[in-house]
Amino acid sequence: MSDRSTAAGPQRTCIGCRQVTEREQLVRLVRVDSPDGGTPQLRHDPTGSAPGRGAWLHPDATCLDRALRRGAAARSFRSAVDTGHLARDLESVITSPTRKRGDEAMDIR
Ligand SMILES: [Zn+2]
Repeated sequence: MSDRSTAAGPQRTCIGCRQVTEREQLVRLVRVDSPDGGTPQLRHDPTGSAPGRGAWLHPDATCLDRALRRGAAARSFRSAVDTGHLARDLESVITSPTRKRGDEAMDIR
């Protein structure tokens, strides 16, 4: 709560751990309509600027897990969202406890 950051950039709240963090440190999730008219899906937005309502998450396995388990995603969107695709979407950007270089992920288009 009193953890004050000196960052100057825009800040967003991670829906996993609820920490307010520099936007650059988070990945954007976006709600997209389901092709079969069912529950909207929550997907990774690699561009960070896809249209639609977005949410933000640390690219971190713990935050993802929390977001999925606590229903934080649905709460953030104020409606049910299908998070079934999210773990796979984020597979390439998630940081596992052992830190690795993540530069390669930028090449995916
Ligand atoms: Zn987080």
